[in-house]
Amino acid sequence: MSHNKYHVIQDEPHRWRNIEELVYKDEDGAATFKDVTRRVLFGEDHVDGMEVRYFEVDAGGHTTLEKHEHTHLVIPIKGKGACLVGDEVLPLAMHDLVYVPSWAWHQFRADENEVFGFLCLVKVERDRPTLPTQDELNEMKSNPAVANFIRHQ
Ligand code: MN
Repeated sequence: MSHNKYHVIQDEPHRWRNIEELVYKDEDGAATFKDVTRRVLFGEDHVDGMEVRYFEVDAGGHTTLEKHEHTHLVIPIKGKGACLVGDEVLPLAMHDLVYVPSWAWHQFRADENEVFGFLCLVKVERDRPTLPTQDELNEMKSNPAVANFIRHQ
């Protein structure tokens, strides 16, 4: 059977054989998020210091509002959602491409009635995310579109 180190089978949509569902974030209690799961599709055993994860956000859920030095390459592969990158709120559909540069504030949200899933490429060796201070939040919220979009605390 073709299940080996070169090939992982997708048993049902967005569910891959022997790839477990993980909690989205377990390292610190400060980060706020809602209804997000994580799967590492390609991890440390693979090449060139890159990791490919699959995140799934339940309808109405969101990832943490954060920034960091490392970058993200994001490809939605299920449902519909939206994201904040820097000061832009972007509607997202399947197979769009999103680049999150160093130190850009970012957050991903599922639409109210849609599970939203996306691939996210990162470096294995990466810095820890930073959460906004109250001053930074206030500054972000001076942009009405951003204020309306972000979910924090
Ligand atoms: Mn991030």
